[in-house]
Amino acid sequence: MHADLVAISNLWQLDQSNDRLRAEHDGLTGAVRAADTAHKAAEVALEEAETKLAALVQRTRKNDRELADYADKRDKTRAMIDGGTAPDYGAATRQLAQCLEIVDRLETTALELMEATEAATKAEADAEKAVETNRLLLGTARQALAARDAAIRAELTAIIAAREPIAVLVPTELRAQYAQQRQKKRAALVNTHENICQTCQTKIPAQRVLETALARAIHTCPGCGGWLLP
Ligand SMILES: [Zn+2]
Repeated sequence: MHADLVAISNLWQLDQSNDRLRAEHDGLTGAVRAADTAHKAAEVALEEAETKLAALVQRTRKNDRELADYADKRDKTRAMIDGGTAPDYGAATRQLAQCLEIVDRLETTALELMEATEAATKAEADAEKAVETNRLLLGTARQALAARDAAIRAELTAIIAAREPIAVLVPTELRAQYAQQRQKKRAALVNTHENICQTCQTKIPAQRVLETALARAIHTCPGCGGWLLP
C-alpha cells in the first residue's frame, strides 16, 4: 500500500473508533433521557388518575348523602299520606312525586358514578404499573450508561491523545481533503470491485485502480471522494 494511503488509513481507523465511541455514548445518554421523560410522563399520568379518582369518590359521597336525605324525605312523606296525617294532602302528594323523581335521578347518578369509579380505579392501577415499569427502565438505562461511561471517556481521551501524531503523517495537502470527507460524513477509504466503487457504485478509470494496486499513486473515487483501497 502507498505510504500516504497507510497514513490516511491509520487516521481513518482512529477517527472511526472515535465516532463509534461517541455514537455509543450518545445512544446511552439518549436512552437515559428518553427513559427519564417517559418516567416523568407516567408520574404525571398517575397524578391525574389519582385526582380523577379522588374527585369521583367526593362526588359519590355527596350523591349518597343527597340520596339518603331524599329517600328519608320520601319515606316520611309517604308515611304521612298513608297515615292521613299530612296537613295538606295535595302538597304532600306533590312533594312525594318530587322526592320520587329526585331519588330516581340520584340513583341513576349513583350507578353512573359507580361505573366511572370502577374505570378510574383500574386506570389508576394501570398508571401505577406504568410508573413502576418506567422506573425500572430508567434504572436499567442509567446502569447501562454507568457501566460504560468511564471506559468510553478513557478511550476517547486516549484517542484524542493518539490522533495528532497519526494525523501529521498524512501529507498536509491531503489533510484538508480528508477533513472535508469527514465533514460530509463520507467514507475516507473505499473498496473497488471490477473498477466500481463499492461505496457509491461509480465507475473508476482503470488506470487509477491499477496505480492504486501497484502502490504507485493514491486516487480518489470521482463519485464519493473516498480514497481507493488496493
Ligand atoms: Zn465512490
